[in-house]
Amino acid sequence: MQSKIVFLGTAGGFEVVGKQLRASGGIVIQTEGLQFLIDPGPGCLAKAQEYGINIRQTNAIFLSHIHYGHSNDLNVSIQAMTLNGLDKRGFLLASKEVLKDVPKDSKDKLQQVVEVSPGKRVRINNVEIIPIIAQHNVPCLSFKIISKDFTLVYVSDTRYIRELEKEVRNVDVLLCNCKLPAGIKDGNNLNTSDVIRLANKTRPLLVIITHFGSEMLKKDPLFEARDIQREIKIHTIAAKDGMIINPTSYAAKVRQRTLLGFAKKEG
Ligand SMILES: [Zn+2]
Repeated sequence: MQSKIVFLGTAGGFEVVGKQLRASGGIVIQTEGLQFLIDPGPGCLAKAQEYGINIRQTNAIFLSHIHYGHSNDLNVSIQAMTLNGLDKRGFLLASKEVLKDVPKDSKDKLQQVVEVSPGKRVRINNVEIIPIIAQHNVPCLSFKIISKDFTLVYVSDTRYIRELEKEVRNVDVLLCNCKLPAGIKDGNNLNTSDVIRLANKTRPLLVIITHFGSEMLKKDPLFEARDIQREIKIHTIAAKDGMIINPTSYAAKVRQRTLLGFAKKEG
């Protein structure tokens, strides 16, 4: 199975979620035969169905924080994934603070509930997951995913913190919640200038922005992505609902392999 990232939604903030100006079902990452579901917000199951994702095949759910835009469909997703608990399986990764708001009934359907904290590595088969510190108006975590083919950091809702610069260094894909356009700050979320700063300090191979608030939609995420790319000279994509990206094609290892392939052919 080829690695892929599938966007079940790109909405950020209650206005965009409430009006469904963008879908809000979260993000699916498939790699090494595993399927991860990140932040299953409202409409997760509907969008999964629409975009050809079988939620039943999910191996782990990552829940960054409890805001409804990120967590609303958690319980129904666990229900779908476990046949309502008949097939007790799968993992839920979240912090202690977040887990206390997850119903026991849902936890009981899973193979394992993993209480995570920044820097505490978790391994699921061959994939390593490292939770990363975030500073939001409720407890929140970002996640680094290290698979054989690529490394990715999902920066969830957070204000700009210097610690991120260390965590994002040497990753292939920076997948970043960017709720606000340049020039607008709310103290709890990143804006376009923050993404430019972070990407410039860490130099990933691909930047993807998502989680767009109403001000961002007014400005148009496509233009903001273009500004980021112009500024930092790194390929930058504004996510769209239903968009599928193969992260492997951007990964450093693959690029090296491809270059070696060319070199051999030429030699
Ligand atoms: Zn939030």
